[in-house]
Amino acid sequence: MSRLATTILLFGFLLFILFWRLDEPSGPLSRTRMLMGTVVEIRVDDPEPERFRDAVTAAFDEMARIERLMSLHLAKSEVSRISRAGEPVEVSAETATVLRTALKVSVASDGAFNPGLGRLIRLWGFTDGEPRVPSKMEIEEALVGIGPESLTLEDGKLFKSDRSITIDLGGVAKGYAIDRAVEMLSAAGVKHASVNAGGDLRLLGDRDGTPWRIGIQHPRKKDAVLATLSVADRAVVTSGDYERFFEQAGRRYHHILDPYTGYPAERCQEVTVVADSAALADALATAAFVLGPEKGLELLQKTEKVEGLIVAADGQVVFTSGLQEIVQWP
Ligand code: FAD
Ligand code: MG
Repeated sequence: MSRLATTILLFGFLLFILFWRLDEPSGPLSRTRMLMGTVVEIRVDDPEPERFRDAVTAAFDEMARIERLMSLHLAKSEVSRISRAGEPVEVSAETATVLRTALKVSVASDGAFNPGLGRLIRLWGFTDGEPRVPSKMEIEEALVGIGPESLTLEDGKLFKSDRSITIDLGGVAKGYAIDRAVEMLSAAGVKHASVNAGGDLRLLGDRDGTPWRIGIQHPRKKDAVLATLSVADRAVVTSGDYERFFEQAGRRYHHILDPYTGYPAERCQEVTVVADSAALADALATAAFVLGPEKGLELLQKTEKVEGLIVAADGQVVFTSGLQEIVQWP
């Protein structure tokens, strides 16, 4: 073969490789950021996802803004400010929205979910990184005046029945931040995406024409999947006793507290909730975890457009009737 023919062949081969590479659909765009004490992943599955790079950054910034507004870990947040206030205190429209979801779930769960539990959660040290088992007397004191009727929201003002009630939105605000990130992505034109904050997630659209397949962590077998859910355009949020806990004298103490006893709730290992909004799913998962398999399942079953799965303390699994259509067992 002449040198010219060889050169043409080689050139043709390189052109083929170049166009073949250009033609190949690029993979999803995936970015992570540390927020609210956990790793948040935003993934965009649209064609040419790189064009949504700025939208992803804006969605992360939005979640960071909500963290600054609603974190109990930050003294300057609005939630810290209203916790310190004694008189009826004005709350921003946004914090009022999250508080309304929290109070709605609080009423529906007979107070099993309680956004006024901050004092008790602080006492256990779950917010300052030095967890400990408080004395019985300390717990009794922290429970005084924190019934479900102790917080009311009227005309943009929060009324606390007792000055010392401390607001903690740790069981609902992460879900709200996920919702806002998804809304930002959608407004920017993204059609297929997921926002995942430490395992709590919401999906935008489907995944390229097929549902997303979401694995639910087994509560007792590390790295094992309990079940897989096929879902699109929905939030999937899990509360478990295996995520944040400490051990003392051979006992495990986790961060989901039963407002009726003041101790970690004992009836469940894990609850997963599927709903349209991640904020609602977040609060319901925490509430059902406290209520346990019977009452928790009742709560999920009676809430419209919500499905869920509960692993009881003895390992038994119960789930809502509609979950059957979207669940696959291993
Ligand atoms: P969930 O079951 O969804 O919620 C459990 C959390 O809800 C508990 O940690 C407690 O805060 C609260 N809670 C417990 N019992 C009840 C109850 N009966 N009713 C209502 N609420 C209850 N973590 C860090 O380590 N560092 C941070 O800087 C930090 N900042 C945060 C900022 C924000 C705005 C939010 C929302 C969370 C932040 N977190 C941070 C995490 C937080 O401390 C909680 O651990 C986390 O929200 C728990 O979420 P979860 O999905 O694991 O559990
Ligand atoms: Mg929750």
